[in-house]
Amino acid sequence: MTLKEVYNGRSVEEVVGLLGEYGNGAKLISGGTDIVIELKNKKITPKILIDISKIEELKEIREDENYITLGSGVTFTEIIENPLFSGNLHGLYKACRMVGSPQIRNKGTIGGNIANGSSAADGVPPLIALGATIKTLSIEGTREIPLEDYYIDKLKSNEIIIEVKFKKPNNNQILTFAKLGLRKALAISRLSIASLIGLNEEGIIESVTIASGALGKYPMREEEVEEYLINKKIDEKIIEEAITTLQNSMDERLKGRSTLPYKRVAVSSILRENLEELIKSRIEVEAW
Ligand SMILES: Cc1cc2nc3c(=O)[nH]c(=O)nc-3n(C[C@H](O)[C@H](O)[C@H](O)COP(=O)(O)OP(=O)(O)OC[C@H]3O[C@@H](n4cnc5c(N)ncnc54)[C@H](O)[C@@H]3O)c2cc1C
Repeated sequence: MTLKEVYNGRSVEEVVGLLGEYGNGAKLISGGTDIVIELKNKKITPKILIDISKIEELKEIREDENYITLGSGVTFTEIIENPLFSGNLHGLYKACRMVGSPQIRNKGTIGGNIANGSSAADGVPPLIALGATIKTLSIEGTREIPLEDYYIDKLKSNEIIIEVKFKKPNNNQILTFAKLGLRKALAISRLSIASLIGLNEEGIIESVTIASGALGKYPMREEEVEEYLINKKIDEKIIEEAITTLQNSMDERLKGRSTLPYKRVAVSSILRENLEELIKSRIEVEAW
């Protein structure tokens, strides 16, 4: 199939109509940072491209009393520059700040990061830890999908992601993030972990959600570590045990993979960074 046309999408409704008409033959392009490479390498050969980068309603960041909603066209830079993502949402700021280069952060969008489906998408683990849901639209209607199920309940070819929405953390919850970057000498994907942890006044963990990137086929919850950490007070021994718990569940998941020995070592420093950052943030906000 050769590329016949590029449409400038002016509204979500128009885009949904085009996706309904062309189905598998159409591809959306937002920031273009992933898809342009795929087009160049002929990994995909759509008949038409639909540019959604100028649709204003996809670029909004909205906040109400309980929720924050990011339009799918919001860029990493727009998240970094928004004061909403300081304080206890710092983990999302940090994940976006660590993406590629300034040029990539200026163009790359949160919707593209999710839709591209990479196991190493940096924006995804913090959003899974936050319990985010995505909203999609097609000619068949709207769907809301928990982000952690997105990789199983995949996007259909006639759907567009409109937004991603999550509940604001409580005052005692902190979102942390750590990533091990790609080294030039190693052809091993990036690893990342995000944690949303709530501590009570005695410093005991009363809520915990942990999500990883590049520790499996797709970003996922690390439920065994969550179960280990709940109702515990973080100290050096608990951090070590949490790391061992994660390594044990990776042994099962990544059995036989050549990357397993490297990843076992690498996760130890990134889970530790998450938990130590939590302790540090708590000391800084002693006012709780
Ligand atoms: C040099 C370089 C460095 C990078 N570094 C990082 C990094 O450190 N961390 C990281 O996570 N990523 C990184 N990336 C990958 C990329 O920048 C991100 O995944 C980015 O978020 C993709 O967003 P985009 O808007 O550019 O998507 P596009 O390239 O426009 O689209 C990507 C895919 O998503 C689909 N799509 C886009 N928007 C929607 C939507 N609203 N609804 C449905 N489908 C949609 C497109 O059809 C396409 O299949 C890097 C890329 C490059 C080239």
